[in-house]
Amino acid sequence: MDTKVLIFKENNIEKDKLREVAEVIRNGGLVAFPTETVYGLGANAFDENAVEKIFIAKGRPQDNPLIVHISQLDDIFPLVKEIPSSAKMLMDNFWPGPITFILNKETCIPYKTSAGLETIGIRMPSDPLARALIKEVGVPIAAPSANLSGKPSPTDINRCIEDLEGKVDCIIGGSNSEVGLESTIVDCTVEPPCVLRPGAITIEMIRKIQPEAYIDPALLNKADQNFKPKAPGMKYKHYAPKASVIIIKGEINKTVEKINEIVQNYIDDGIKVGIMATDETKTYYKKGEVISLGSRSDLTSIGRNLFGVLRTFDDLGVEYIISEAFEEKEYGLAIMNRLNKAAGYNIISL
Ligand code: AMP
Ligand code: MG
Repeated sequence: MDTKVLIFKENNIEKDKLREVAEVIRNGGLVAFPTETVYGLGANAFDENAVEKIFIAKGRPQDNPLIVHISQLDDIFPLVKEIPSSAKMLMDNFWPGPITFILNKETCIPYKTSAGLETIGIRMPSDPLARALIKEVGVPIAAPSANLSGKPSPTDINRCIEDLEGKVDCIIGGSNSEVGLESTIVDCTVEPPCVLRPGAITIEMIRKIQPEAYIDPALLNKADQNFKPKAPGMKYKHYAPKASVIIIKGEINKTVEKINEIVQNYIDDGIKVGIMATDETKTYYKKGEVISLGSRSDLTSIGRNLFGVLRTFDDLGVEYIISEAFEEKEYGLAIMNRLNKAAGYNIISL
């Protein structure tokens, strides 16, 4: 399949180009497009044949439901049975933005889209191009992240092209994803609401609106191999680069010391190794491929860069990536959730 790549400049969404792309989706095609979280791979959420193509293009397990994207609040009403007041309050505070709400679905959403569930995840993104596209298409767009299943999600158009060229009709974009991690997912079919996947809208932020909100215990109980997260996608090995990732957890000076020791051992064995560092520590690593995720004082930059850096290490052909850890609170919880999965919970605690 020929994949058309269309670059849109920020602040200038050309109408004729957008119409062309919307037509592709209306005709049952697939379009990868930018959102503020990560790039998404979109199809008409009402069209099960189109949605089926998403699963094939990504190699996505059939039991992993898609998130449905809307461009304005009114568009949610036909899609769901009811909107509990707790959900409405969270929407009013955080939409448009990087948060998805799980609600009971109406019959207009095919089971293909919800992966057989009676519930559906809905999000209104803030990215202007994403919103303009959904509006132009005139139907909600079902879109998981635009990566091949299991790989780190793409946060720029080139990674999208790498994964999906030849597999989808069209890839659009230009600007990089502002957040860089997938949306927070909140189950609002239960009371109080339950966070199924941590993201940029943190549990601390959610509790300011819904003080009783809690995090799916399965996410916090990582040591228990039998944990069953309520978001089907959370159970898969995910976000993983080709290299093996090892996380070193502990006080920062000791972490640096330990990483240097491990790196030296690998280098002695002739193994190429990468270090995922931070601005505060990068100069303390003298060997291996060192890349900083950003400053520890700005976790948003760490989140924004994480997936891109993991993929850069793959480009460099390292066999191991040794990463520093972050405190698992506020935005650090989402960062560590992705990092832990990339590492397959391969963690050395000091
Ligand atoms: P992605 O868009 O690739 O980030 O994947 C969507 C994520 O949302 C996956 O982890 C899904 O398991 C989760 N998800 C989507 N719909 C539901 C739902 N109805 N109930 C629980 N989790 C969901
Ligand atoms: Mg995904």
